Amino acid sequence: VARWLLLCLLLASGQAGAASCDVAMRIEAGLRLAFTYDCEAGVRRLVLHESRAALFVADVALADGTPLAAASDGWVVPEDRATRFGYRLDLAALAQNVGRLTAMRIGDSILAPIASWLMEPEGSGVAVRLAVASAEGLSFATGMPRVEGRYRIDGRDIWAGGYTAFGRLQRDEIRLPHPRGEAVLEAVRLDGTFALPVAEINAWVERSARAVADFYGGFPAEHAMLAILPMPTRRVGFGQVMAGGGVSIMLQVGSDVTREVLNEDWVLVHELSHVGMPFLFDRGQWLMEGMATYVEPLIRARAGLRTPEWAWHELQAGMPRSGIYWGGAATLLAADLAMRKQTSGRGFEHCLRAVLWKHGNASLRWRTQQFIEACDAAIGTPVLAEFATQREVDLPALWRELGVEPVGEGVRLRDDAPAARSRDAILRGAN
Ligand SMILES: [Zn+2]
Repeated sequence: VARWLLLCLLLASGQAGAASCDVAMRIEAGLRLAFTYDCEAGVRRLVLHESRAALFVADVALADGTPLAAASDGWVVPEDRATRFGYRLDLAALAQNVGRLTAMRIGDSILAPIASWLMEPEGSGVAVRLAVASAEGLSFATGMPRVEGRYRIDGRDIWAGGYTAFGRLQRDEIRLPHPRGEAVLEAVRLDGTFALPVAEINAWVERSARAVADFYGGFPAEHAMLAILPMPTRRVGFGQVMAGGGVSIMLQVGSDVTREVLNEDWVLVHELSHVGMPFLFDRGQWLMEGMATYVEPLIRARAGLRTPEWAWHELQAGMPRSGIYWGGAATLLAADLAMRKQTSGRGFEHCLRAVLWKHGNASLRWRTQQFIEACDAAIGTPVLAEFATQREVDLPALWRELGVEPVGEGVRLRDDAPAARSRDAILRGAN
């Protein structure tokens, strides 16, 4: 489930970066945060993009204690003394009073998107360098890239910034293949316990991430943070990718989850597959969710976690449900087959890989049309543009062509079907 944000993207404000701010954040006991900003000139306002968090902000002031004037959409920084200021934010109170995805408390830890706590120093393209210090026993985790000990984020990415975790955290680094050597997926467990040994949770994360890395030809982010939220259940629950200013994924995992449930899980592979594709902000939800829904069974079968028959049965059983998930998946399967027929073997996976390694991952925010054009350019023929316009799929005819025949609770794969070879290439990943 990719986060769906209806936003007016400030495409017009893309002038070259001017000012930068060094921001120091102190995580104090009780999960209260204190910030000091040391900026070059040019910052005109401080903006807290999560408006519900404003109630829990205090002491927005210049370094000498002079309060900054509140405006409807932020705090005004006086032009002549604009370089040092700060504020405090009570993250625990925010989680207690607003909660949900604005700031979620689990034990002595909190998960919150960057926009809930970091104010954007608004100017012309302000770069933020964030240094974090914590009271004893508390720590911080983020998908933001770290350079020379400081986290980096473009001020204009803060509104869509990824998840971050505060407080009592436990973390393990999972190393994965990447075209430039090695990717690191930081698995961060929020405060709680699991009935299973942590090694088994990590093994499930690793095999899911490796399966996704195999599909893309490398893990789709050089650094990413997976926040695992222990919940009072036995299942793998809701997950979400947010990729502004670095890739982060949140996933609810039942404290009493069993080995069998983890072996059956599809949610983590689904979420990790989102990391490899740009975020499409304008009506591209069918394409993003269709992609993840379509490739997840293929990824698990390719990795040997499932049989080919299982994967085709999943797709065949799911697609009649239509909607953005399964309807999108059906459109992409039909497009994939058409691509392979028109290009002697290049399909949707080749388009995904080409866009990822040429342009970037989910941290890009693209128009749907931009993705369609980049995909078709990679394949060399405008198949996706065609299918995006006419998304209806004749499923019975498609399954006959592919030779996927329903039999009892499963499927039979027929080798005498016209597109049997493409079907096997889709599943095996013939390059
Ligand atoms: Zn999804």
